[in-house]
Amino acid sequence: MADVHSQEVRSFNMSKIKGKDTKPELLVRKFLFSHGFRYRLHDKKLPGKPDMVFPKYKTVLFINGCFWHGHDGCKYFVVPKTRTEWWLNKITGNKNKDVEHMLELKENGWNVIIVWECQLKPSERDVTLQTLLNELKNNERL
Ligand SMILES: [Zn+2]
Repeated sequence: MADVHSQEVRSFNMSKIKGKDTKPELLVRKFLFSHGFRYRLHDKKLPGKPDMVFPKYKTVLFINGCFWHGHDGCKYFVVPKTRTEWWLNKITGNKNKDVEHMLELKENGWNVIIVWECQLKPSERDVTLQTLLNELKNNERL
């Protein structure tokens, strides 16, 4: 079977391998900082080491790569044609961990927001960031 990934999808998947401080994350940080939000990064003390923590809003934010976190129904989540089973196990494992961490955070009173990287593509970006902004403001503890 032919490899149907477009070049765009392929490079998008590959760019995820670098991990921390990837471009989409910087985008979100810059946006929120410019709107006056202050946050901690990669807090190791919290379950799942959230990408951003907003103590004033009792909110944590994860910016999830569509491939590594298995974004259901997303065109960027394409299981590789080689070592398929290994990848599926790996990604299912990641997803299970994500759910565990989320439950643990919620039990401790945190609001959890997940932004998927596909939602930060140029065509989706403005809507996503605006929604995020509103959601954070709603969580502000007065
Ligand atoms: Zn996605």
